[in-house]
Amino acid sequence: MTSHPLKGRSLKGKIQTVLGPIAPEQLGRTLMHEHVLCDIRPPETRGDNDLGPEITLENVWQINYGHGLKRAGRKYMLDLEDIATREVRMMKHEGGDAIVELTCGGLSPDPAGLKRIAEGTGVHLIMGCGYYVNDYQDPRNHGRTVEDFAQEMIGQIVHGAWGTDVRAGMIGEIGCQAPWTDTEKRVMQAALIAAAETGAAINVHPGRDADQPQEVADFIKAAGHPTDRIVISHIDRTIFDETRLLKLAETGVTIEFDLFGQESSYYGLSDIDMPNDATRLKLIRALIDHGHLDRVVISHDICYRTRLASFGGHGYGHIFRNVVPMMGRRGYSEDEIDAILVHNPRRLLTFV
Ligand SMILES: [Zn+2]
Repeated sequence: MTSHPLKGRSLKGKIQTVLGPIAPEQLGRTLMHEHVLCDIRPPETRGDNDLGPEITLENVWQINYGHGLKRAGRKYMLDLEDIATREVRMMKHEGGDAIVELTCGGLSPDPAGLKRIAEGTGVHLIMGCGYYVNDYQDPRNHGRTVEDFAQEMIGQIVHGAWGTDVRAGMIGEIGCQAPWTDTEKRVMQAALIAAAETGAAINVHPGRDADQPQEVADFIKAAGHPTDRIVISHIDRTIFDETRLLKLAETGVTIEFDLFGQESSYYGLSDIDMPNDATRLKLIRALIDHGHLDRVVISHDICYRTRLASFGGHGYGHIFRNVVPMMGRRGYSEDEIDAILVHNPRRLLTFV
C-alpha cells in the first residue's frame, strides 16, 4: 500500500465519530450494529412506485409477523430524518451513549444526515464503510479490483465517504453470502488491506448458512489478519448450536448478537428458529463460561421502520431499557454487562 502512506495512523488510539475523533474513554455504552438512515429494499423493487400501505396499528403485526402484505416497501426505508433523530434521542434517555451505524455501499448511506443527527442528539455515531452483499452492489462493482476497493475504503476513513467529508470509523458491514461470491471476496480482501493500513476494525455480515461465519473467520486467519479486529454480525440468525458457536469464538473474532428485540417466528429472510432475547443471553452466557467475555457485543440491527418506536417497535433503547435489567436478573454481573456494552466496543472502535 503506497498511495496513502500511514495517513490513517494519525487515528491510532482514537475513535472516529461522524463529528470527528474522540478519546476512547468518551464513548460510553454502545450499540455495535444499527442502521439509522438506510434503504434495505430488495434492489429489484427499488424502482417500484407502489410502496404498499402506510404502516398503521391495524397492519403492523401482519407486516412484522405474517406474509400477508405483498408490498411493504416502506417497511425497509429508514429515510425520515426527524423521526430518526427522535428515536436516537430516545435511546439516550434510556442510557445509551453511542451507535455504530453500518449503512454501507448498496444501502443508501447518508453521512451528512448522520452528522446532523449526531449534532442534534449528542449521541456518538460511528459510521461504517465498504460494501454490503453482492446483490445490493452497483453492477459496475463486479468488474473492480481488490486494490480499487481498498483505496476507496481507505479514502472513506481518511478523507470522507460517499462524496462528503464525513469519515468512517469502522469498516463494514462487509456483505458475504452462502455461497460467497467472487465480488464479495474481493471486497473482503480489500477490507483487510484497508484495515491493515488504517487500523480500523471490520464488521462482517455473514451468509445465511451456519458454517459461513467460520468460512470467513478461517479466510481472515489464513490471510494473516488479526482476528481480534474482526466482528461477525447476525450470529442470532446464523448459528444455533453451542459447538459451532464456541468453535467460531476460538478463532478470536468477536461474536455479535445483534438482533435483540427481534423475536419473531416469521423472520422472512430464512426459515429459522429465531431465538428470543432470553435465549440470546443463554448463548452469550455459554461464551462467557468458556472464557470469551471480551469477545461479545450486542445490538438490535434496526433496519426496518416497524422496529422503531414511532411505528410500534422496540426502538434503539430496548437493550438499555429491557435487556440490561434482564441480564441483571439472569445473573450477569455489572462487570460483564460493562464488558459487553462499554469495554469491548471501545477496544474494537479504537484505531490500532
Ligand atoms: Zn447485516
